[in-house]
Amino acid sequence: MMRVGIAMLQGARHEHYEAIKHASMEMQQEVEVVELRKAEQVDSSIDGLILPGGESTTMRIASLSESLLEGLFDWMMKYPDRPVLGTCAGAILLAQPTQGRESFIDVDVARNAWGRQKFSFEAGVDVTLETPNKSANAEFELARDKFNHKPLPMTKQVVKSTSGEFPGVFIRAPRFIQNSIKCQPVAHLSQEIVGVLQGEKLALTFHPELTSDRRFHRWLISRIMDSKQ
Ligand code: GLN
Repeated sequence: MMRVGIAMLQGARHEHYEAIKHASMEMQQEVEVVELRKAEQVDSSIDGLILPGGESTTMRIASLSESLLEGLFDWMMKYPDRPVLGTCAGAILLAQPTQGRESFIDVDVARNAWGRQKFSFEAGVDVTLETPNKSANAEFELARDKFNHKPLPMTKQVVKSTSGEFPGVFIRAPRFIQNSIKCQPVAHLSQEIVGVLQGEKLALTFHPELTSDRRFHRWLISRIMDSKQ
């Protein structure tokens, strides 16, 4: 049994919950998802971590009362071999943790660099990261949670992926400063690098949890499986 923690600071947390559960079904691996709200919860029992997208300034403010961000950064320092998936604002946090801390990925990030919210867009992304195939084709019903919140089942209606491209959802997304990238590029939007890997840290400027393509979540699970062997 593995435990995946999701930082419940703000933003697209519930969608990541659904996504990792779906991926665990696809891989026939039992995964316990831990909703992280306080620094004390981020302990040695957490095998892998998701830093969702949302609004990084709000996340930093939301973190102040329970010091969750500091707990997450401490955990990442302590367990550098445990995988982390940071999406959008989560990628910003990996590149620009709190002051005085070194970046977890060697890349500079420009926030909101595609322009305002109305310039958010969807586009196919070329993925070169090796991600495991599904072992079962489990249809997954997106359930309502206790707040009557149902994650958006976007892919089927909105984003069509063709020929292996990943359906990229870019919402007021950050951009990696291309000539600053010193880690491995793993996802491209045309010529631009929109996903990078450094060690076990995967940073994407888009929102994979808003699609039904779970390959990045399967990556997280497979890295945990490898690290536990
Ligand atoms: N614009 C947000 C930020 O700067 C990131 C957007 C997102 O996560 N969708 O934090």
